[in-house]
Amino acid sequence: MQVDGNVALVTGAGSGLGAATARHLAALGAKVAVLDFDIENAQAVAEEIDGIAVQADVSDEAAVSAAIDAASGQLGTAPRIVVSCAGVGMAARIVGREGKLSFDVFEKTLKVNLFGTYNVMSHAARCMAALEPLSDGERGVIINTASVAWQDGQLGQAAYAASKGAIASLCLPAARELAQSGIRVMAIAPGLFHTPMMEGLPEDIAAKITANIPFPARLGEPHEFALLAEQIVANPFLNGTTIRLDGAVRLPPR
Ligand code: NAD
Repeated sequence: MQVDGNVALVTGAGSGLGAATARHLAALGAKVAVLDFDIENAQAVAEEIDGIAVQADVSDEAAVSAAIDAASGQLGTAPRIVVSCAGVGMAARIVGREGKLSFDVFEKTLKVNLFGTYNVMSHAARCMAALEPLSDGERGVIINTASVAWQDGQLGQAAYAASKGAIASLCLPAARELAQSGIRVMAIAPGLFHTPMMEGLPEDIAAKITANIPFPARLGEPHEFALLAEQIVANPFLNGTTIRLDGAVRLPPR
C-alpha cells in the first residue's frame, strides 16, 4: 500500500518513535491522527504535520474505541495504516529487596504495552474491515511495537519482556485471522533508540548499552524506525512476523 493519500493513526505519537513515525508518514503524504495520553505533546506534533491530535489512554478500551471513531470522523475515513508505539518501560525485580514483590509494575506494564496494543489493534481492525478494499484486495496494515527484550530480556525486565513477547506472539495469529479482511499485521522489535525513554537512563548505563551495539555503534535514530514502518506499509508481502531493528545488538543479562 502506498502511504500517500491514506489516513494513518500512530499511538504514542507525542514522543520518540511514534512522533518520528507520524512526521515521516505525514511527509510521505498521509493524513495522520496523533494519539497520545499526553495531549499537549500530541497537539504539538499534530500542528507541525497538519494532522489531528487525539487523547486516549490505550489501556482503556472504551477510550481507544472512541478515539479511533473520533479520528475517523475528523479525517473522513478510518485509518488504513495504524502504528502502535504507546508504551512504558518500567524495570523491577520479580523479588526485590527485603522480599518486595513487583506485581504493580507487572500489571501496569502489561496493561499499557500489551492490552493497549491489543485494544488499538482490535478497534483499528474493526474499522479497517468496513473499508472498501484497494485494487490488490488490501484494506490496511497494523504495525505493533515489540522490543528486542522480547528475546533478550535483561534482569529487571520480566514485565517488559513479557509484554513485548506477547506482542510478538500475537502477530501471526492476528495476521492469520485478519487476512480474510485484507489486513496485514506486523511488529517491529527495536533495539536501543535515542528517545526520551532512553534519555531517562543514567549516563554510565547508556554508555554501557551503546558499547554493546556492533554496528552502527550508536543508539538507533527514531527516523530509522519510521523508515521500517514505511517499508512495511509499502511491501505487501510483509505479514505476520516481527522484525528486529537493532544494529545486531544482543542484550547481555544485565
Ligand atoms: P517515549 O516514552 O518517547 O514515547 C512513548 C509515548 O507513549 C509517550 O508520548 C507517552 O505519553 C505515550 N504513552 C505512554 N503510555 C500511554 C498510554 N497508556 N496511552 C497512550 N499513550 C501512552 O518512548 P519511545 O522510546 O518512543 O517508545 C515507543 C515504543 O517503542 C514503546 O512501546 C517502547 O516500549 C518501544 N521501544 C523503545 C525502545 C527505545 O530504545 N526507545 C526500544 C525498544 C522498544
